[in-house]
Amino acid sequence: MNVKHEILLIEDEKNICNFIATTLRTQDYKVNFAENAGSGLSLAASGCPDLILLDLGLPDMDGIDVIRDIRRWSNIPIIVISARTQEREKVEALDAGADDYITKPFGTSELMARIRTALRRSALAGSPVGSAQSRYQAKDLVIDYEKHIITVNGNIIHFTQIEYKILTFLSRNAGKVITYDTLITHVWGPYADSNNRILRVNMANIRRKLEQNPADPQYIFTEIGIGYRMIDNENL
Ligand code: CA
Repeated sequence: MNVKHEILLIEDEKNICNFIATTLRTQDYKVNFAENAGSGLSLAASGCPDLILLDLGLPDMDGIDVIRDIRRWSNIPIIVISARTQEREKVEALDAGADDYITKPFGTSELMARIRTALRRSALAGSPVGSAQSRYQAKDLVIDYEKHIITVNGNIIHFTQIEYKILTFLSRNAGKVITYDTLITHVWGPYADSNNRILRVNMANIRRKLEQNPADPQYIFTEIGIGYRMIDNENL
């Protein structure tokens, strides 16, 4: 690829900014910075970056409001950088429209993996419908969306309608954290009880059918207090 992906970094801490910018440039990304929400928002609008890395704790505006503002006019992937360990903020950021989050301190390889996933998902969202998306594949698991067939190691596994709905939603959003509320709303509708007990029961059943060792899952991971993340689609 000869066109460099452009990343906008909105972060007020100089040393974190420098660390991330250096890392991204060595990986051949083009980087722009903003030290506050105001200039971040105007750079987002004028520069049309391919991805935004956003610190939630900014001096002039809450990061959650920055996400809401951007989502009014753009689907640019947003990865939140959070120093806060509280789950509530991460959930709020994801529900406001962030694609993913990474918690400080984080390693370079983790950051790069999250960026690659977000960029790939965003490129896919713009590609013609049905091209690469008729199938999900990771390790021994294959989901054929057209035939409604799920196999592990070539063996067909039977799922209830609800389980199938959960699996297809997570796999179509593979690599991305899906909050409990988002998943519940998608599967049971907007008026569903936001208590996630029924979701947990269904997930336990899915894992029993899918995973070799449900206590140590390799396909669907729990992000404690936040939601679930399904392993990346290898079929992209
Ligand atoms: Ca900060």
